[in-house]
Amino acid sequence: MNCDKILYMLEICEIFSSIQGEGFNQGRACVFIRCARCNLRCKFCDTRYSWKKGKTVDEETIVRKIEKFNIKSVIITGGEPLLQDLRRVISLLTNKGYKIAVETNGLTYQNLNVDWLTVSPKKAGTRRFKNGYDERFRKTASEFKYVICDMEDINFIDRKIKVPVILQPVDNELKLAEKIAKEMEKIKIPNWFLRLQLHKLLKIQ
Ligand code: SF4
Repeated sequence: MNCDKILYMLEICEIFSSIQGEGFNQGRACVFIRCARCNLRCKFCDTRYSWKKGKTVDEETIVRKIEKFNIKSVIITGGEPLLQDLRRVISLLTNKGYKIAVETNGLTYQNLNVDWLTVSPKKAGTRRFKNGYDERFRKTASEFKYVICDMEDINFIDRKIKVPVILQPVDNELKLAEKIAKEMEKIKIPNWFLRLQLHKLLKIQ
């Protein structure tokens, strides 16, 4: 009988600890797994290095690396993490008591058992889906996040979303943030939240 253990691999860019700089859970200490590759090429992308081929690492090694940080919250991001099958690494980490969050652009649906799911639709995604994301995510997302580059982008936000919707001015542009704040006062949608990227303000990773 062949007792060799099967190793499941993920293609990743990096694993690091920081605080969650974006979204509803901003400010929480977390370990990040940044997956390699993306199916979009957004012009405002601040993680272009993730578009390239990454390092192939087996999932047990990933878990061992994460354990060294002694932080129980893990964010799986990218790139686009849902280009890979994350179910095994999520299950390994969940069984060890980790809280798992995943961030996706919403183009590749996976029904994942996670504690928090951020869907961040991009306009380029409308080539595949009317609202820029697979609408099955409307039932499973914990929050949606939209990068706002100009005031036109506010019209792209799907008004049918019931969970928190984060409006994030591109590159923390304060003038744009002011305009967004004024617009939010006018249109009064209760589940919209304006957020700057905290890690960039603090100049940390
Ligand atoms: S979806 Fe995200 S990671 Fe991919 S190109 Fe756009 S901003 Fe970058």
